Amino acid sequence: MTGSSTVVVHADRHVHPSRAVAPPIYQTATFSADDGDDFARVAVESRGHDFYTRYGNPNHTQVAAVVAELEHTEAAMVTASGMAALTTTVLGLVSAGDHVIGQKSTYGGTGSVLLNLLPRLGVSTTVVDQTDPEQFARALTPKTRLILVETPSNPLLQVTDLSAVAELARANNVLTVADNTFATPLNQRPADLGIDLVWHSATKYLNGHTDVSAGVLAGSAELLDRIWDTAVLTGAVLGPVDAWLLLRGLRTLPLRVARHNANGQALAEVLSKHPAVARVHYPGLPGHPQHALARKQMNGFGGVLAVELTGGFAAADAFLGRLRYSRRSASLGGVESLAVHPASMWRGMLSEEQIAASGVPLGLVRLAAGTEDTPDLIADVLAAADGVHHKQVHHKQKETSAS
Ligand SMILES: *Cc1c(COP(=O)(O)O)cnc(C)c1O
Repeated sequence: MTGSSTVVVHADRHVHPSRAVAPPIYQTATFSADDGDDFARVAVESRGHDFYTRYGNPNHTQVAAVVAELEHTEAAMVTASGMAALTTTVLGLVSAGDHVIGQKSTYGGTGSVLLNLLPRLGVSTTVVDQTDPEQFARALTPKTRLILVETPSNPLLQVTDLSAVAELARANNVLTVADNTFATPLNQRPADLGIDLVWHSATKYLNGHTDVSAGVLAGSAELLDRIWDTAVLTGAVLGPVDAWLLLRGLRTLPLRVARHNANGQALAEVLSKHPAVARVHYPGLPGHPQHALARKQMNGFGGVLAVELTGGFAAADAFLGRLRYSRRSASLGGVESLAVHPASMWRGMLSEEQIAASGVPLGLVRLAAGTEDTPDLIADVLAAADGVHHKQVHHKQKETSAS
């Protein structure tokens, strides 16, 4: 089988070949037909790229060709964002009266689809603790159509047993949909483990440069054709320039992911030994409760880690303030390191009870290691953690001397 680094450079070459080595940008909203028969053909072609850009564009097809080959699926399609990939999939496959199972620890937007959007449309949902495959089995009902999984999960880096969930779903005629954003197809291929549909926020690692919002969905041609019927109605179409930028980002995905993996592992290791840190959540650490499962289904563990500071909310906020390279920002997967403190990000949207119910501790920081030099990132996080720690020690000493 062709290696991933070759796939990302060559898999799209058959789509609109030209003498230009870099693909042209098809900055057009529509396409013309040769004659009436030709027009009739392109108007009904599923996932074509010669009719109208909302229905497809060669720049979309090029991205889809690369993604399908990377994910080991028959086909793929492109959407305007990761959330568009998810909502289009779900709206394309379920109807009122159906039931969907999801995870407790999951990306916020996915959680809201499960808890708000689907119930509003008459689709019942159950969310389960994804670390226990038994819970998926217990949540199944005769009405269950889909199981939505995400592994490793955002922001707690919990791991879902993809083979176990896929096997359970197959036995019960239920489709499985995996969010592979955190892992990337370099680190994990859900389709190889029996998952039916794989989606990404391509805004993150696949594009990798924090300059495009996009989504992708990969699976069998039959399933994608069903979902595509809905995609042309929801109209969450990716602009040709953004598709072109995404393709350019994909060219270096294997190179970038290797560095993200190395940086994520290095930061997880040094921070897990630091006195200002209570716990590091990273599937590549032997102490992660699901490390064995992660090693079984992943080839690498990515650049995202969650760090719990001993000093709680204030320490987490101070830690972020002391980082030199990681800016406070709600994304990940780009060449630049970014960091978020979920509890302060949620202050304006969730009550204290809701934050507590999310299972995300107040002192948790999510670090998304970029592709900077490993020693620079290590020095940066250690300096920030030292600063937070010295302040705490100093504070304690003052308290002791005052009492
Ligand atoms: C960012 C993200 C999404 C949403 O993707 P958008 O491109 O922002 O719509 C979904 N899942 C995960 C795991 C994410 O990190």
